[in-house]
Amino acid sequence: MSDESDLLTKINKVSLPIRIMHVCGTHERTISRYGMRDVLPSEIEVLSGPGCPVCVTTEREIDIAIELAMSGVILTSFGDMMRVPGSRGSLMEARSQGADVRMVYSIDDAITIAEKNPKSKVVFFAIGFETTAPINAAAILRGLPENFSLFVSHKLTPPAVLALIDEINIDAFIAPGHVCTIVGIHPYQQFADMGFPVVAAGFEAKDVLLSISMILEQMMSGDTIVENGYPRAVRNEGNTRAQEMMEQVFDISDAQWRGLGTIKGSGLSIRNEFADHDAALIFEDIIDKQVRDVSYDNVDTSLCRCANILKGREKPNDCALFGKRCTPETPVGSCMVSQEGMCHNWYRYRGL
Ligand code: SF4
Repeated sequence: MSDESDLLTKINKVSLPIRIMHVCGTHERTISRYGMRDVLPSEIEVLSGPGCPVCVTTEREIDIAIELAMSGVILTSFGDMMRVPGSRGSLMEARSQGADVRMVYSIDDAITIAEKNPKSKVVFFAIGFETTAPINAAAILRGLPENFSLFVSHKLTPPAVLALIDEINIDAFIAPGHVCTIVGIHPYQQFADMGFPVVAAGFEAKDVLLSISMILEQMMSGDTIVENGYPRAVRNEGNTRAQEMMEQVFDISDAQWRGLGTIKGSGLSIRNEFADHDAALIFEDIIDKQVRDVSYDNVDTSLCRCANILKGREKPNDCALFGKRCTPETPVGSCMVSQEGMCHNWYRYRGL
């Protein structure tokens, strides 16, 4: 028998109703791709939380990026972000209206654009969790061209999980393996102390099944701890050099999450000593004007259910637009855009 079969047999022997939340788009892709929800016992419910960095970027942040692009800077962004809707369209639409928006695969690509266009101001739209923040921190520490800045929208996952706990009915968490390679498993200790089993998991089917099996063992024993189910990549203390670089470059700040609102201490902002490369300061006037002119209380999100999907309260097929008006080719909400988005994965792997 394969590892997966052994683990499924083990999991099936335990008849325990449990709701497990993961907070990682790559975990969702593995779970959807291999149809895991169909083979797990019906008592085990696996929910997807706010684990897709593209999905949780707010309308406001996208509107600001668009405003920057429309003001004449070269705005560089990962491809997925180009199609995420803000309150007034997407970066892709801004490009079709003449804005200079360029897709990049890394901050290094964006720096190259700045070096080749010394008379232009180049802004990199820096999104992502603890996995991408150290890469950008390293680039800042190496030194950047004068005409280059970052519009930072980095977010930290443990504070978001903490903010969700009071709102949703969850029994255990699968911690995101790639985030844990950077931060280690200790930031998740607070959840174990609150009585939630937590297991850091890798991204193959057997890794996810192993994490579920380990969570069930914790539930049966009554001891809730943080376990490392991905030791081939995760050291318990994480990557201390990456953590140091993040601390050198970024301050912890409050951040807005799509669907979750403002979460205390869940974001990063560039430290004062690197202010010359902080687009939020350099273009403060443009950003202030943009924020002043738009009321985000009035953004119509009544049809898109992303906010509830990111909280694990609803599933994509609870949305009336799923697979009809909203598809990966014609995304209405952010959860359909990215390959890490819940709606995207459900559309792709559940037969629609
Ligand atoms: S299917 Fe589309 S509109 Fe519906 S919740 Fe998902 S992203 Fe939003």
